[in-house]
Amino acid sequence: MMPNILKTRVCSNDAASSASRSWPAVISMHQVKFGGSMLSSRTGVIENRRSKLERMQTIALVTNEQHAATLYISLPEAFIEKKKTLVKLSSKQQGTDQKRAARQRKVLMAGNWKMNPASIKEAREMAALLASSLRTIAQDKPGFDVEVVVIPPSPFLHIVADVLSGTVAKIGAQDVHPESKGAFTGEVSTGMLMSMGVSYVLAGHSERRNLFNESDAVVNKKVKAVLASGLSPILCIGESKEEYESGLVKDVCSKQLREGLVGVSAEDLQEKLVIAYEPVWAIGTGLTATPAIAQSVHSYIRSVIKEMYSPEVANAVRIQYGGSVTPESVDELMTCPDIDGCLVGGASLVAEKFSRIFSYQAPPPGSPEKLYASEVVPCGCTLGESVVWSEAMQSLFWVDSVGQALWSWRPSEGTGTSKPIRWKLPEVVGCVALQESGDLLLGLQSGIFNFDLTAGVARKLTDFERPLDTRPNDGRVDRFGSFVVGSYNNAHRQDGAEIGGLWRLNPDGNMQEILDYKFRCSNCVCFSPDGLTMYFTDTPTRRIFAFDYNPAGKLSNRRLVYELPSSISGGPDGAQTDAQGHLWVCLSGASRVVRLEPLTGAVEAVVELPVTSPTCCTFGGPDLDTLYITTRGPDGGGLYCVKMPPGIRGIAEPMFAWSAVQHGSSCAAPEGKIGPARWSRASDNQGESWMSASSRISQGMDEVKLPRRVTSTNGLLSISSDYQTKPAWLTSGNSSQASRFCADCGHAHTTLTAKFCTECGAPRITLYGQ
Ligand code: PEP
Repeated sequence: MMPNILKTRVCSNDAASSASRSWPAVISMHQVKFGGSMLSSRTGVIENRRSKLERMQTIALVTNEQHAATLYISLPEAFIEKKKTLVKLSSKQQGTDQKRAARQRKVLMAGNWKMNPASIKEAREMAALLASSLRTIAQDKPGFDVEVVVIPPSPFLHIVADVLSGTVAKIGAQDVHPESKGAFTGEVSTGMLMSMGVSYVLAGHSERRNLFNESDAVVNKKVKAVLASGLSPILCIGESKEEYESGLVKDVCSKQLREGLVGVSAEDLQEKLVIAYEPVWAIGTGLTATPAIAQSVHSYIRSVIKEMYSPEVANAVRIQYGGSVTPESVDELMTCPDIDGCLVGGASLVAEKFSRIFSYQAPPPGSPEKLYASEVVPCGCTLGESVVWSEAMQSLFWVDSVGQALWSWRPSEGTGTSKPIRWKLPEVVGCVALQESGDLLLGLQSGIFNFDLTAGVARKLTDFERPLDTRPNDGRVDRFGSFVVGSYNNAHRQDGAEIGGLWRLNPDGNMQEILDYKFRCSNCVCFSPDGLTMYFTDTPTRRIFAFDYNPAGKLSNRRLVYELPSSISGGPDGAQTDAQGHLWVCLSGASRVVRLEPLTGAVEAVVELPVTSPTCCTFGGPDLDTLYITTRGPDGGGLYCVKMPPGIRGIAEPMFAWSAVQHGSSCAAPEGKIGPARWSRASDNQGESWMSASSRISQGMDEVKLPRRVTSTNGLLSISSDYQTKPAWLTSGNSSQASRFCADCGHAHTTLTAKFCTECGAPRITLYGQ
């Protein structure tokens, strides 16, 4: 167990400090176990490396003769109270089963025996073993509330039903003919099945679709016949390996679902029909979709049902997962909120295995809460990064780093109907940040730029680490209005050289180096709620550090927060803190984001993603209670999100605020490290040409064409008008921030209050409305 500060003994300042005076040896906080015995062999005063605690407490360690130890900490009342209100996910864990129950979806575990076993004798034996297991469970687990269905071949239905009678198991059939009777040699009708005690019937199993050419139309006929007879169909859908690899999962599932459900009433869907998502590539192959992949498809299926029927129906319909489910994989699959059971093939032939599957187990108490993210914007970034939420615009901004693009999306417009916007950028981009002015800051390959959203104009503020072969990477505005941005050694994968620095663009325009050592690849830049702690990682080290953050000085008092265990691949990438000061870190290469307790590094929650590399995250949405996550290719690239459990939310993203030096004035480079000294003269050839790219807009997204030609006057890049359109939502809103450039001709307005362009006479456009 990691330290838990609430379990410590608290004593008065005096007592603690007098105790501390008598223990001269120094030990590190990492050795401390709170709430009981001290595991370090050394005793003495604890050198408190946690800045926040340092300001607030005195710590002393007292051992008795038996070497039992008590840790004394004095904390101000306010701090204790604050700590008490922290939401501890593990103790407040909302079990997936509870969520499912709240939605009134009973778990359904079905075993499809396919064309097995070979004889009625074996079928009887298999059923008998299962019956015995079910009887044991009924005795041992009085609350057992899983619906168990056994689906044997037709000739064995009768005997299996007979042996299982008196247990909770129900009987299912593998197929049925849509007609009720007649000249259909070899077929079985719904009436026959009913008379044998069958409750469920599979429809559209992939083996019937592929080996017996059953079309969606035929599947739909069967579904309707089963429903008409009063039985429950299990409608199987799922994509082939080729379709999966071509990114067609949603298209295939949506088609099979829509065509399979033609003429099915909302009532039948809510009460009788079950959907089974079975990726064909996972059936009988031993390959299982990861829980995150399965969850993302299940959540998509629910969204299609919502669109076809209603939110109530989508919430009520049961969706099973199928594809090589085993006793080893079931527990994790069942933590997914949208997985309501499993359709099991091979493993259902062994009573012991099937029993373990239907008596799946919830994670042990105290395990990190599992959350699952799903894609909200399929933006296909090569390397999505640096997602920030603008409260003023109620919009997210993020970048496609090597894809050289800036993206924006307003979630309130709703999934599927919203139109993300993409601005093509001329250079590799590391990060984007907000400014109070309504413009953005962009960390591009050649420097830090100001980006005017309305005009689509960028202007270089300063070079970055020239002449080094580095670029800005992760960056965020601190809680005092300065922009902190770290470097990326473009060749670090080859040369491993630690040459980059961590910089702060201060409100007066000065760039200041704030870390006293160099590194390869900056990430994790984020701040505690009070702004006095900064988190940082040099990704290849796989270690995240906290520092005391001085808004006017350098980082100090480095201490380790978290080191990626060797069992987990990848490295820490972008991160964000929540309102309680806990750290949400993207583990790129490990398909997850973890919530860390900031003092101990304990993992309190894990957000699983269906793609390998989450890259950056932030809280967004009107209530700041959704975690948005950028991802990278080749399997990812979209923007993902996950709703936070109750009580967890973010803090509004700070905005960069110019102070003494306003736009267009000097941006001095201190210590001669960063040039040019005056950004008002910072135009260069690269700068002049880089706005020439026109944007390539993803299918179905708003077109935002960028200016084709820019001219450079005093470092300001202005545009030609015929290539620009503006996202509609950027012109509506509350702020009265006026654009500095004419939206028609690109001319820079001469005064802040000008109502019309002095160049072309066009009315001035404001950024969010006037
Ligand atoms: C199935 O046949 O529906 C199935 C999922 O099989 P298996 O579990 O063997 O992959």
